[in-house]
Amino acid sequence: MEKQGNIRISSENMMPIIKKWLYSEKDIFLREIVANASDAITKLKKLVELGEAKGEEEYRITVSTDEKAHTLTVEDNGIGMTAEEVETYITQIAFSGAADFLDKYEKAGGDGIIGHFGLGFYSAYMVSEDIEIFTRSYREGAAGVHWESDGNSTYTIGDCDKETRGTKIVMHLAPEEKEFAKEGVIRSLLNKYCSFMPYEIYLNPKGKDDKPVNTPSPLYLKQPKECTEEEYKTFYRETFSDFNEPLFWIHLNMDYPFRVKGILYFPKVKKQVELERGQVKLYCNQVYIADNIKEVIPEFLMLLNGVIDCPDIPLNVSRSFLQNDKQVQKIAKHITKKVADKLTELFRNDRERYEACWSDIQTFVKFGCIKDEDFYKKVKDIVIYKNLAGEYRPIEEFFGEEVSDEDAKEGKEPKSAYYVSDPDKQAQYIKMFKDAGLDAVVCDTYIDPHFISYLEYKNPKRVRFLRIDADVDGALKEEGEADSEIEEIFKAALGEEKVKISTAKLRDASVPAVVNVAEFMRRMSEMNEFYRMGESDADMTLVVNTANENVLALKNADEEGKKLGAEQIYYLALMAYRPLRPEELQKYTENFNRALAAFLKK
Ligand code: ADP
Repeated sequence: MEKQGNIRISSENMMPIIKKWLYSEKDIFLREIVANASDAITKLKKLVELGEAKGEEEYRITVSTDEKAHTLTVEDNGIGMTAEEVETYITQIAFSGAADFLDKYEKAGGDGIIGHFGLGFYSAYMVSEDIEIFTRSYREGAAGVHWESDGNSTYTIGDCDKETRGTKIVMHLAPEEKEFAKEGVIRSLLNKYCSFMPYEIYLNPKGKDDKPVNTPSPLYLKQPKECTEEEYKTFYRETFSDFNEPLFWIHLNMDYPFRVKGILYFPKVKKQVELERGQVKLYCNQVYIADNIKEVIPEFLMLLNGVIDCPDIPLNVSRSFLQNDKQVQKIAKHITKKVADKLTELFRNDRERYEACWSDIQTFVKFGCIKDEDFYKKVKDIVIYKNLAGEYRPIEEFFGEEVSDEDAKEGKEPKSAYYVSDPDKQAQYIKMFKDAGLDAVVCDTYIDPHFISYLEYKNPKRVRFLRIDADVDGALKEEGEADSEIEEIFKAALGEEKVKISTAKLRDASVPAVVNVAEFMRRMSEMNEFYRMGESDADMTLVVNTANENVLALKNADEEGKKLGAEQIYYLALMAYRPLRPEELQKYTENFNRALAAFLKK
């Protein structure tokens, strides 16, 4: 006998709003319906454990598509519902649950709820013009129940002759949603949302050889010591469709005081130029929620690939609430710590492998330090840089002792750490540094300028970074007075507005002059150039080497020789610093030909 009823909550206006907001994610309805089926099985299993219900057969969820009838059906052999339960849970709770969701959603401002979690059964109306439920409760002697509604204000409920225990939801798809009756479409949605759900899910099963579309016991739920390297790699390949092997991974497995399970993989970096977005998939009890949720997972970890399951996170609250939630913060801290621990362990126990991976993971580590002070504190000792000999060294080795406030007052500066930003362009400086027995670190990735500023900011009393061409008359100078005669020769030849001149006796006598650019000024101009995209010789000084024979010989040359000699020395120094501009190159060539002609006439 069929009975009619009115849905108490006014649901007429709900669907258009839900549809509008969730338009691009309406396919989450499948997750909600399959998750309900999975919950129904879990409930039955609990009762079986308690001895209150019988549950002999295999538990499974079956999804069927019918392109001709435009239906999509999800069936489970879980707990089922009695007629009263359908009235309560579906007609009342599901509909008021949706109203509740809408309310929270509105308060959170549009896209405020992560993964649009918690809309529930009602979400199936996003794609259906009518839904039928066939269900039979686990209770002995329970009759089959049939319920049907178009999702607006009325429904019918009555008997049916369902033989088996469990629930079958038949969605009659709206004409414009026919694609959801296609097996291929549903298969990919099941892969996205349901691949780790705890019971086997079959799509359009045909017989004995059917395989479930999901993995009910994903690797991340296993105890780490029970997992093999091969299993980790296979899981990576299947979950991220990346056929490059991951570098290494971290298995999160925490039950107390909060629950977090998952695996984070460090992928091989494909190119250095930009930060590559990884993919960290968030799950809640094996149900997929969304990717790269920065409210739950520290932002810098998003460069990794991973799966994280956090059953305790309240996902149907607003994002801003989550951001300030203590529990969520603890989880994020825990994950960060685990990552730092793994890196430290690798550094300590397998330095060779760590160094081999470094070029792939350095961006991640440096970015993580800048973004998260806690992370920086944990990994600062294991940040390594190549020195001029090509060996990796912890960057802290280049720092000095902290300068005390008293010493600072007397003008003592923190130790200078020298760096190379482009080994080819700075080859001359590198040679001079090596000859002088000095060392420098190679900072040649795009994140390094930011990172060294960050290191200075964190260690203001221990280090300041100077590019290798920024301290020629400091690092490379020997004792001695300035030579004013030489200075005058160069000033006369070059004109003072072009470049500042200073003289110094450098340790390497073979180099006549070197361009020096004050670090601070250069950083400023680099920042400006970022906007202007031009080149500038900000605060360049030509350091003329009074240890060099040719420089000293200028003193005895005639006027023409002084000018030509000083100019050529200047251009040579410039060339070791940056490419010559067209007019400079022209002048240099002219001078050279003149000198050559004079030389050949001799
Ligand atoms: P929620 O799952 O968040 O409680 P839903 O709107 O999805 O909200 O479902 C409402 C209720 O309907 C569920 O709590 C459950 O009691 C019942 N229900 C839904 N689907 C099933 C099912 N397949 N089997 C048994 N009960 C179900």
